[in-house]
Amino acid sequence: MAATLGAGSTVAFIGLGRMGLPMASRLAAAGYAVRGFDVSTPAREEVAALAGAQAADSAAAAASDADAVVLMLPSSSHVRAVLVDDGLLEALGAGVALIDMSSSEPLATRALAARAAERGIALVDAPVSGGVRGAVEGSLTIMAGGSEEAVETARPLLEALGKTVRHVGPVGAGHALKALNNLLSAVHLLASCEALAIGRGFGLDPHVLVETINVSTGRSASTERKLPEFILTETYDAGFAIALMVKDVGIAVSLGEQLGIEPALGTRALELWRQAEGALGGDADHTEIARWVDARAAEGAGR
Ligand code: NAD
Repeated sequence: MAATLGAGSTVAFIGLGRMGLPMASRLAAAGYAVRGFDVSTPAREEVAALAGAQAADSAAAAASDADAVVLMLPSSSHVRAVLVDDGLLEALGAGVALIDMSSSEPLATRALAARAAERGIALVDAPVSGGVRGAVEGSLTIMAGGSEEAVETARPLLEALGKTVRHVGPVGAGHALKALNNLLSAVHLLASCEALAIGRGFGLDPHVLVETINVSTGRSASTERKLPEFILTETYDAGFAIALMVKDVGIAVSLGEQLGIEPALGTRALELWRQAEGALGGDADHTEIARWVDARAAEGAGR
């Protein structure tokens, strides 16, 4: 078995956005030699300012002689652009650990893994749940797909980032599970916002509504965290863009369709999330869906 990726290993970290930067920071704090790269200059400046981390001028420079390459990019197309179109995969040495922590498309991940395997490189898909706070605190849930050997090699690095690291199946399984998790999250956040709008319309106190649901069977991560922290406070700053949520719901629905399973509720949720994205803009925080639901409710009530 390849040596595991313990502290002291050199890690190229590609994608230093809302999630990637705090994750790179945790790896540096845990004793990994981090070389960060992002197309954004401010992101490179931020990683350069971290103790134990350096900024690289390109993904190839970050990855040169690294023990591991971690990607935390918006989507599969970004992952493909870096690894295939820009030639990084061709430049990597056999045996490097390649870990895609982005929420990517499972079938694209499988195709990429086959390409990587031709070069003697095992791809692990290790998407995360837990949001920006989980990234900052190192309390993410990490769903890893890949061979037993590749996941065990990556485990110490993943454990520096997450509280729960679960090997969920062969390569692509992590990305499939993550998309399905976000399908559920998108459906129950939308349904929770609709319940809130109806409750308000009836004259219920929104805090009483949420507190009561949270000790009842309608509760979910949306009612327990997102409504009280980001929606009732009107801060709308969870740190997860609505465009990324739409991407994830789209991955789950399209996976179902490719398997001949038409997710009726998922398909409707995707339509509604897309409409909200159109109205709010893709960079809006996903919790702003509550504002969009309220606006639709007000329109309906005025008719
Ligand atoms: P983000 O948009 O904040 O960050 C993505 C970063 O990738 C940006 O800094 C961007 O400049 C960089 N980038 C884009 N193309 C690049 C390239 N070719 N080379 C180098 N850098 C490039 O996104 P995020 O919120 O950090 O999300 C990253 C991934 O994690 C997504 O797949 C998302 O779905 C997933 N995710 C996000 C959250 C969250 O709460 N934000 C939670 C779980 C999972």
